[in-house]
Amino acid sequence: MERTFIMVKPDGVQRGLVGEIISRFEKRGFKLVGLKLMQISRELAETHYGEHKGKPFFEGLLNFITSGPVVAMVWEGKEVIATAREMMGATNPLKAQPGTIRGTYGIDVGRNVIHGSDSPESAAREIALFFKEEELLSYEKTLDTWIY
Ligand code: ADP
Ligand code: MG
Repeated sequence: MERTFIMVKPDGVQRGLVGEIISRFEKRGFKLVGLKLMQISRELAETHYGEHKGKPFFEGLLNFITSGPVVAMVWEGKEVIATAREMMGATNPLKAQPGTIRGTYGIDVGRNVIHGSDSPESAAREIALFFKEEELLSYEKTLDTWIY
């Protein structure tokens, strides 16, 4: 079953949106298989956002993402990577559809509340970066076969 890495960024934690964001994924039918509150080190931030190194916003992004606690999560379910990106909305909250997480709570492209992996390759890379194998749990939900 597909897995993706989702993170409530420091602004989301500060603004009390952790429960709301978790709730959206739960209600959508996805399964939480990993969860932790943590503060990201500079080194981890640089690796995680490595693709953006050299861009004008890179330093600001590192400062922001290391500025306070984040909630790192792994969610599981059918096509969860792409579905999570749809649920999040566009990177710039101004462009994010109303009703999406960023379109509802986002203020600024540099304060857009949530991170989610953008491809199966990024998901595998980011999950391995933030979680040890034993921190990810496999368990059954007995409600129905279409609730992942
Ligand atoms: P996404 O988070 O939607 O995958 P990107 O991978 O393009 O977006 O960028 C990573 C993060 O870097 C964004 O979520 C945002 O916080 C920040 N960012 C991207 N572009 C800008 C920008 N032009 N100015 C400030 N921050 C930016
Ligand atoms: Mg990205």
